[in-house]
Amino acid sequence: MDFSIPGPLAETLSHARAFLDEAVLPREHHFLTHEFYEIEPELSLLRAEVKRRGLWLPQAPKSLGGLGLSVLEHGLMSEVLGRTPYGHYLFGCQAPDAGNMELLHQFGTDAQKAQWLLPLTRGELRSCFSMTEPETPGSNPTELACRAVRTGDCFTITGRKWFTTAADGAAFAIVMAVTNPDATRHSRASQLIVPTSAEGFEIVRNIPVMGHPGQGWASHSEIAYRDVKVPIANLLGPEGAGFLLAQERLGPGRIHHCMRWIGICERAFELMCKRATSRRLDQGRPLSHKQFIQGYVAESRAAINAARLMVLEAAWKIDHAGFAAARVDISLIKFFVANVMMKVVDRAIQVHGALGLTTDTVLAHYYAHERGARIYDGPDEVHKAAAGRRILDGYANDGDA
Ligand SMILES: Cc1cc2nc3c(=O)[nH]c(=O)nc-3n(C[C@H](O)[C@H](O)[C@H](O)COP(=O)(O)OP(=O)(O)OC[C@H]3O[C@@H](n4cnc5c(N)ncnc54)[C@H](O)[C@@H]3O)c2cc1C
Repeated sequence: MDFSIPGPLAETLSHARAFLDEAVLPREHHFLTHEFYEIEPELSLLRAEVKRRGLWLPQAPKSLGGLGLSVLEHGLMSEVLGRTPYGHYLFGCQAPDAGNMELLHQFGTDAQKAQWLLPLTRGELRSCFSMTEPETPGSNPTELACRAVRTGDCFTITGRKWFTTAADGAAFAIVMAVTNPDATRHSRASQLIVPTSAEGFEIVRNIPVMGHPGQGWASHSEIAYRDVKVPIANLLGPEGAGFLLAQERLGPGRIHHCMRWIGICERAFELMCKRATSRRLDQGRPLSHKQFIQGYVAESRAAINAARLMVLEAAWKIDHAGFAAARVDISLIKFFVANVMMKVVDRAIQVHGALGLTTDTVLAHYYAHERGARIYDGPDEVHKAAAGRRILDGYANDGDA
């Protein structure tokens, strides 16, 4: 395995980082202390600049106007963009749109691509992915209750979803709904494209998360689907393939999330070290002279390095042998990196003292908004159980040694 970064990619990554450092970090405090719609016009100007610099849509194929990066390459880009909470949004590869683009690209009809995918890739509209429900376990989506009943040439969708990220202001939702309750567990649901302007689509509320009300792209909504009618042409992929498509959507997404979290770790680490060396504690001696702090720094560095190599190896495996070969690795990095991130951000806050809890640094934002990493895309326990089961299966199949 060779993780050295080829020249042209290194150049792209360095351009991306320079853009964030020059144009975004100086405005980050303003962005963090204002709601999404207040800052959207400025974010749009920055997006235009990203396009002008040829850095737009790193994850998407060139045929869609993207940079056509591989899973590993986009992982490295994600690490750079994770440096600020706005990196992915500004480069057009933010969740949940990036996953929806991938779904539409892979499974959409020509008409669906023309209507939804192309404007999405141009950043002209936003989308959301509506699967989790308040009344059924999100960690087991085979138990969804939301129904889509086919009559004539349309589906009628009835149900309630929540934690639909970025639904506020989105043009359409990709909704997971049960189309055949009698089918086998993994074939009960389908995915449907639902314009948010459809009659019966109602955002009940943006759910406050860790005390933050949420708005626009930076929100998580509860949505009522009250007899929402969509034409059969809005079925995404085959009927009954909803679960399969959801897995496809999450595969590369997990690598990109993990590398984004590594980017967050690096930013928190940098802030921790700068604060430790600049804060004078007693008689002019800096905080960094304390062994406790040196321990935080060493433990954080070791954990970030280990986590980063694990993610790169998983991405490399996907690029070389496909997703199936990397299943265990993907589960391992999903819980491992999320926990490393929480620990590193927590230590960085500790080193900052009370300052760490304010909006004067990005740390409190990361602490509040990234806690979800241990829950979404499969909670820690689900990934640990899945990885453990697969590893043990290998031993059981070996028979008695
Ligand atoms: C920030 C954020 C953004 C999100 N965005 C979206 C989105 O855009 N679209 C969408 O559809 N959903 C979204 N979600 C929802 C997310 O996918 C679910 O929260 C997740 O799947 C867990 O489902 P649940 O909350 O219903 O928890 P439950 O399924 O009720 O699980 C609760 C807890 O039980 C434990 N648990 C679960 N299964 C097991 C097991 N097998 N063994 C042991 N313990 C277990 C875990 O500790 C878990 O946290 C988002 C969530 C968050 C936090």
